[in-house]
Amino acid sequence: MVAPKYWRVVLKLSGEALAGSFGYGIDPDVVNAIARQIKEVVEHGVQLAVVVGGGNIWRGVAGSAKGMDRATADYMGMLATVMNALALQDALQTHGVDTRTQTAIEMKEIAEPYIMRRAIRHMEKGRVVIFAAGTGNPYFSTDTTAALRAAEIEAQVILMAKRVDGVYDCDPLIHPGAIKFEELSFIEMINRGLGVMDATAASLCMDNKIPVIVFDLNQHGNIKKVVFGEKIGTYIGG
Ligand code: UDP
Repeated sequence: MVAPKYWRVVLKLSGEALAGSFGYGIDPDVVNAIARQIKEVVEHGVQLAVVVGGGNIWRGVAGSAKGMDRATADYMGMLATVMNALALQDALQTHGVDTRTQTAIEMKEIAEPYIMRRAIRHMEKGRVVIFAAGTGNPYFSTDTTAALRAAEIEAQVILMAKRVDGVYDCDPLIHPGAIKFEELSFIEMINRGLGVMDATAASLCMDNKIPVIVFDLNQHGNIKKVVFGEKIGTYIGG
């Protein structure tokens, strides 16, 4: 049997990924499909942590653009990620995957607080850990959370789930002739202004030598393919 290439990974799920065709909120069918994909890799002994976004419910910048206090709007965004985390936790548990949610903002009635060593211990026991509430700080993103948590738990890679099968030189959903990158450096990604992740997240990944693989989540089995080293999507490193 072929062994997984990566044995400890952070999966970054944007809020949009959970909305599916609804475009807003949470589509339970989509969340169940993601849970099945996660189960496939955990069954192979891969230690997996998930960072969930919240853009399907609320984004801080959108609120502040309409005159809200930015920090308040960002805290609302972080709370949105907690709802997504609970939905994913529920689906994973339903599929028989032991799961713990840890929040960066304490709300002990519904989840554990974020404790790095405890998160690692959970993963060593085969539990999926879901990191909710971002970094706990306004003005950051869940992409940055993924980079931060990956560095803390010494993950080998961040799996960045998208609706397209990699990074293109322009939006492939708008430009049919868009060219896909097989590999890319973080500097190139920033210089070209490719909207894969924000600059804070990119520099954290670069400084800590954490590669990012951008791939299409909607194809069932893709999480497993990436974890087993199949060359799909775009590899960002260096
Ligand atoms: N957020 C924040 N600090 C963090 C992470 C997230 O303030 O460390 C807020 C921010 O308002 C953001 C929202 O939570 O817009 C949802 O996260 P994000 O936009 O990264 O979600 P995604 O785009 O992945 O769905």
